[in-house]
Amino acid sequence: MIKYHSTNHNSESVNFKEALLKGQAPDKGLYMPDFIPQLSLSQIASMKGLPYWEVAFRATNEFLKDEIPENELKRITKEAYNFEIPLENVFDKVFLMRLDQGPTASFKDFAARMMAKLMEYLIRQEKRNLLILVATSGDTGSAVANAFLGLENIKMVVLFPSKEVSERQRKQMTTLGENITALAVDGKFDDCQAMVKQAFADPGLSHLNLSSANSINFGRLLPQAAYYFSAFSKLVKEREEVVFSVPSGNFGNLMGGLIAKKMGLPVSKFIAAVNENDEFPRFLETGQYQSIKPSKNCLSNAMNVGHPSNLARLIDLYGGQMDEKGKINKMPDINAIKKDIFSVSISDEETRTTIKNVYQKYGTILEPHGAVGFAGLERFLSQAKISSTAISLETAHPGKFPEEIKKALNLEPEIPESMKGLESKKEIFKVISPDYKEFKQFLL
Ligand SMILES: *Cc1c(COP(=O)(O)O)cnc(C)c1O
Repeated sequence: MIKYHSTNHNSESVNFKEALLKGQAPDKGLYMPDFIPQLSLSQIASMKGLPYWEVAFRATNEFLKDEIPENELKRITKEAYNFEIPLENVFDKVFLMRLDQGPTASFKDFAARMMAKLMEYLIRQEKRNLLILVATSGDTGSAVANAFLGLENIKMVVLFPSKEVSERQRKQMTTLGENITALAVDGKFDDCQAMVKQAFADPGLSHLNLSSANSINFGRLLPQAAYYFSAFSKLVKEREEVVFSVPSGNFGNLMGGLIAKKMGLPVSKFIAAVNENDEFPRFLETGQYQSIKPSKNCLSNAMNVGHPSNLARLIDLYGGQMDEKGKINKMPDINAIKKDIFSVSISDEETRTTIKNVYQKYGTILEPHGAVGFAGLERFLSQAKISSTAISLETAHPGKFPEEIKKALNLEPEIPESMKGLESKKEIFKVISPDYKEFKQFLL
């Protein structure tokens, strides 16, 4: 059975189930697998033409087979992935992988939906209940709440800053009902997060079985390895290599890709494209790591991260150690990282120009996050002499960013099917002040 160690090496190794239900290790480190199982090139090639849920099954089963029976994992991936992943040819051998076809139109649906089903299955075994608390500044909350909607024995409370989310984002959380309760906090995102953290540490609430669904959970990372296999098997011949460009914030998406590579996927390069929060490309350049505080506000707002939470995992994967505060206690193999990853920072101005140019030249509409990824790929291709297939990830639907698209292209992007009809749905939410006592009373 694969064991998961903490990146801080100060707590016991656990199995997948515990890593999933705990989220973070007790020593504040992140869980990483002790070894990474392998898929052969012919196993990868044989994924060609399968429905996406089956690719996800084959990729994740290697990690989960000792803990989840195959028929259950098949059911889980089938229920989680009732949508496909369009691959658009932009020009020559350059493709766009659209990860925006899920119910909340961002790539976060891939992780959230599978993690939710895995949790439901694993707690059912123990006849346990869970109360999941999520603090969100917008998109994560809706993806996670949607993923947990209607699940058995799990309730969820989503806290969001009442004045800092868009109307559409709010409606995506407040119109669900059932086991999802939305709390509008009269404060900032940091207030929401602080109250959730305090609740986890409060012994007076331990009988509620609180759990989290945030991005540091290994159960949210693993499903993100699968779409790299899917794209490769569709586009590339067995003996060829491929380049992926990943618009990155907390580096969960990129970690999914790196895990796929370690499993045997022939990737010659990942492009870690970041916005003006450029702490990672600077680290690769100088060998010195310096987080950015406060993080810079850029157009690709889901990537406004001054210290990526998954960096500790990336450093662990390359033999180093970084603690939860971002201090590197053991340097990773920087040359090996640079061999695998080309990292580049894209300014807001370049993001806007990319949206314009790509539309004018190829008729493809990108939103700001995907544009950062695409600009990163163009930068890489302009200096690397390669002729391999290159795939840029589009992590959200352009219809989620109508103002930016209108400004850049003077057109109204289509609203994704999954988000239509939101206006007329009934909203239910409770407003609370950013006061822990009030929040605790509510939970009790
Ligand atoms: C969360 C998010 C990202 C960043 O992904 P990470 O895994 O945090 O690097 C990029 N694009 C969109 C649209 C997102 O919602």
